[in-house]
Amino acid sequence: MGTESGTHTREVERLAELIRGAETVVALTGAGISVPSGIPDFRSPGTGLWETVDPMEVAHIEVFRREPKRFWDYYRPRFGMLSDKQPNSAHAVLAELEARGLLAGVITQNIDRLHRKAGSRRVIEVHGTIETSSCVDCGASFPVDSVEGLFDGEGVARCPGCGGPVKPDVVLFGELLPERAINEAYALATAADVLLCVGSSLEVHPVAGLPAITQSAGGKVAIVTKGPTPYDHEADVRLDGDVVEDLEALLAAIG
Ligand code: ZN
Repeated sequence: MGTESGTHTREVERLAELIRGAETVVALTGAGISVPSGIPDFRSPGTGLWETVDPMEVAHIEVFRREPKRFWDYYRPRFGMLSDKQPNSAHAVLAELEARGLLAGVITQNIDRLHRKAGSRRVIEVHGTIETSSCVDCGASFPVDSVEGLFDGEGVARCPGCGGPVKPDVVLFGELLPERAINEAYALATAADVLLCVGSSLEVHPVAGLPAITQSAGGKVAIVTKGPTPYDHEADVRLDGDVVEDLEALLAAIG
């Protein structure tokens, strides 16, 4: 075993110890935890579906309002792709920790439902979820599996009741974040003795501010993410291998 993997093993053991000794552990997850499930991180270059269009230009609330067809042309294949994906072992480890009473909940930037599919019960989706879509005119709600049946000849999902355009319940660019989820995320980050950050580069608001909240309330921050984050130097534990391998090793070390 080389020095590097020795360090890695010690970091995993340190994290296991932190979690065993903590009263409140909260997970914070981003796109990186869903990459092993086949969902590309749209901020990473070279990810096919996302490469040709700037998501900030199309997945924007103003585009949805002005040109719902342009929005859905971009979003419909993405929506279909996301609804088939399955959780991986990293999602499963977090669900298992919650089931054992070792994890209070998961705050996630992901809209893909994979934490819920893996069995996590307390999931705070700060960017919304594809689980439901809503009519922007009358508020009628539609489960994810029914949306494909709502498209008109133009390629816009429309409410069968009032004909209004239907929008996924995800936060688009230019939209406010869901207040209840944000408040719950702040409360959990404040209460956390350990904030376990997985697969997030911790650069996008509001998630970017959560580790600092945990730290100023006296908690510790652990980061399990490939690639740099703004908190790397202050983190109590830093793992940057494969998220699935790292979380499986963590579960084994917790015992
Ligand atoms: Zn309607």
